[in-house]
Amino acid sequence: MARYVFITGGVVSSLGKGLASAALGALLQARGFSVRLRKLDPYLNVDPGTMSPFEHGEVFVTDDGAETDLDLGHYERFTGVAARKTDSISSGRIYSNVLEKERRGDYLGKTIQVIPHVTNEIKDFIHIGEDEVDFMLCEIGGTVGDIEGLPFFEAIRQFAHEQPRGQCVFMHLTLLPYLAASGELKTKPTQHSVKELQSIGIAPDILVCRSEHPIPEKEREKLALFCNVRPQSVIAAYDLKSIYDAPLAYHNEGLDQAVLDAFGITPAPRPKLDVWEDVSDRIHNPEGEVKIAIVGKYTQLEDAYKSIAEALTHGGMANRVRVKSEWIDSEIFDREDPAVYLQGFHAILVPGGFGERGTEGKIKAAQFARERNVPYLGICLGMQMAVIEAARNLAGLPDAGSEEFDHEAGKKRFTPVVYHLKEWVQGNHTVARKVGDDKGGTMRLGAYSATLTKGSKVAEIYGTTDIEERHRHRYEVDNRYREKLEKCGLIFSGMSPDGRLPEIVEWKDHPWFIGVQFHPELKSKPFAPAPLFRDFVRAAKEMSRLV
Ligand code: GLN
Repeated sequence: MARYVFITGGVVSSLGKGLASAALGALLQARGFSVRLRKLDPYLNVDPGTMSPFEHGEVFVTDDGAETDLDLGHYERFTGVAARKTDSISSGRIYSNVLEKERRGDYLGKTIQVIPHVTNEIKDFIHIGEDEVDFMLCEIGGTVGDIEGLPFFEAIRQFAHEQPRGQCVFMHLTLLPYLAASGELKTKPTQHSVKELQSIGIAPDILVCRSEHPIPEKEREKLALFCNVRPQSVIAAYDLKSIYDAPLAYHNEGLDQAVLDAFGITPAPRPKLDVWEDVSDRIHNPEGEVKIAIVGKYTQLEDAYKSIAEALTHGGMANRVRVKSEWIDSEIFDREDPAVYLQGFHAILVPGGFGERGTEGKIKAAQFARERNVPYLGICLGMQMAVIEAARNLAGLPDAGSEEFDHEAGKKRFTPVVYHLKEWVQGNHTVARKVGDDKGGTMRLGAYSATLTKGSKVAEIYGTTDIEERHRHRYEVDNRYREKLEKCGLIFSGMSPDGRLPEIVEWKDHPWFIGVQFHPELKSKPFAPAPLFRDFVRAAKEMSRLV
């Protein structure tokens, strides 16, 4: 059975619990252990799939088609372990399971209550797959003291109590605010937050303290004394230049050692950190810089395209360049000439998105990239817009558009070059959807295979003709326009294995113009960059030498 580390947060939100969990996962791997990371989120949405990226950041999609919290992206990027449906749960999902069971009569005769029914459901979830790994790391979303989080805290308290001694460790992240006037780091909020945890029966073994200033020995001892942890288990977490410094930084502060000590694992296996040393070296010692424009809609919140930003960084690391990306709101191009904004960039990326707003601007960005021979990577909606651009401007379909926008407007205005897919094949079964179906979890979601054309640019980039990438969309490019578009030079170089769904398009006579229906960014890792991002940044680097 796995050993469990429960990661909680206190004092304020946004302390980087996800990152600390991911870094700890990487460090335990570096010591030879297998790990799995999980996120337990107290909000009432069944999953984050229906939340706006403005509110919650990116929706991270797993191979098995779950729409999850973006922290699962961090987990994957740091450990390389593919997350699953069973690695993310919310109060909404827990309650919906409990209520479903109640209706089915599973608890017949009983009064359904938070304790034990909800807490049991949470505990059952935590147990899933525990025989597969050495360590299970479970992060609890939110901050201790939140009303919504209470059932989760109660569940992990019970869980630890039910396991043999030494099987579970609690790690609590807090903030040490700095008072400039007195030049002091204050420990009181952390003390209060630990008290809050203790009042619900959880005694943290490890304190991870975010701080902008070095933590003096005196304060460390004070924290240890008042919070009932060992001084060497008070771990400092300072601000870092790059998130990819986190594994080495946490190691240097003794986090992995403290965790192994808390489990009584002695002697601790020596860590092998060369992967992270290489990652840090590549991040901090670039040999050049490329400028990439990301033309999208959700540009105000950086987290909305988290995986894209990270995948670009990985592509930069592979090419030893710093990627300087600038986010441009595509709606600007409704009013102004894109050339004014886009010239000077070494490549253009149009990411995924939903709804009509901003799409005309994305079409103009695709046109600019095609006509000016600027490297272009279109992801999901970014591919669909590139196809519409080609259909309108070269294939003689001036009314080309997506059914998505017609559905939104409630009337038919476009020739549906991109249409609503209602039935498709996944593995060896057919999936069907109707317009007006539930919004949650009803897209083409998760990993699907694609077959690439031999000799195409993408086949060369991937180094194979069979790939598997993650999807999240309702609409598809209509294969019936293939011939027309290929005549103009837009090659359909990747298709679903049954040959029905276009997965990749590329311009034949263009230095680098590729649109993909899937999200290659989701599988990119600092130590294994997504092939498309690696090569896209390479093309941008080439471009930077030309201009
Ligand atoms: N809105 C488009 C669709 O549903 C694209 C989705 C996306 O970019 N992820 O097909």
